[in-house]
Amino acid sequence: MSNYSEVIGFIKNQFDNKAFIPLHEPRFVGNEKKYVVDTIDSTFVSSVGAYVDKFEVMMSSISGTNKSIAVVNGTSALQVALRLAGVNAGDEVITQALTFIATVNAIIYNGAAPIFIDVDIDTMGLSPKSVEAFLEEFGEMRDGICYNRKTNKKIAACMPMHTFGFPVHLHELLKVCNKWNIPLVEDAAEAIGSEYHLKPIGSFGKLGVFSFNGNKIVTSGGGGAIVTNDVELGIKAKHLTTTAKVPHPYEYVHDEIGYNFRMPNLNAALACAQLEQLPSFIDSKRTLAQEYDSFFNSKGINFRTELPNTKANYWLMCAELGNKLERELFLKETNENGVMTRPIWQLIFKSPLYSGFQKDEQINAMYLEDRIVNIPSSVR
Ligand SMILES: *Cc1c(COP(=O)(O)O)cnc(C)c1O
Repeated sequence: MSNYSEVIGFIKNQFDNKAFIPLHEPRFVGNEKKYVVDTIDSTFVSSVGAYVDKFEVMMSSISGTNKSIAVVNGTSALQVALRLAGVNAGDEVITQALTFIATVNAIIYNGAAPIFIDVDIDTMGLSPKSVEAFLEEFGEMRDGICYNRKTNKKIAACMPMHTFGFPVHLHELLKVCNKWNIPLVEDAAEAIGSEYHLKPIGSFGKLGVFSFNGNKIVTSGGGGAIVTNDVELGIKAKHLTTTAKVPHPYEYVHDEIGYNFRMPNLNAALACAQLEQLPSFIDSKRTLAQEYDSFFNSKGINFRTELPNTKANYWLMCAELGNKLERELFLKETNENGVMTRPIWQLIFKSPLYSGFQKDEQINAMYLEDRIVNIPSSVR
């Protein structure tokens, strides 16, 4: 008898007692084939096509924003969103160390440096209190721009990440950012369909970013989106991600150094079919979350649920173990028995590649790093 045999049995039972239960698998039960075949029949499989336009309209509706731009992947979307928020080479960007590597890479691709600030225990995302404490100590306003007193560099943006689809404390974070005149860019890659005070995640920042990678709730195979309420910024985002070509009947004129970050129509077709099912996917996950919650509670294990005034999409569901040893045992036993589980990310600054950046004490991030595991969360 292993320590977690009941947990393993319960999880397997939720997924038809299959021999192997993955962490999160995609589900294609709608118009996926129809739309993808349609792009092939039309020959429009590449960088222009009706599904790209349709995807952008759907994303504006889902994220409650005025403008959405289809992008090749979430990482590239973050890179361009930061540039459009005003991040330049030599600047700094406040973010969390408890995140997927793409959050931090997107900052570095712009020639900027991350400042790692702690997360909250309850949201597992960037802590407004810790951001405020950092700015009280190191922030300095000069001509309406916030500088880091320690490095003398401009703090050009603040990028929280909504961990596993649980919204960060946005009202408090926006209050701090507004006070210091720092634009907010939401890494909402994991949080499509989540809400904060009844408003969609992604619509709170100057720009927001989603991912449609294969492991997310809805997938385009690979893809991303930039969303914003600032129509002018949205137009710029489209321009920059499509080689910054000036419209002309036949000449090739480019007015900026842009990127080829377009989402192909083939991928947009898959995304459209998937987005049609987002509400039912989230409903299915919320039902699973309720079942996990009552089961884990009965076993004395903390299952992470959404906070008041928020709606979580329950992308990857989380159990919180008592300490690192328990976490190791849980991971070992579940994975050895066909139930795929994973630890939360290693804090980014622990890798030598990223160890040289400024950070605060990271007390909550370290606490969560030792205890949080993801359990199978697929749509059923
Ligand atoms: C998935 C993800 C991204 C973007 O990933 P892509 O694979 O490039 O689409 C960015 N940030 C976070 C936190 C993610 O989970």
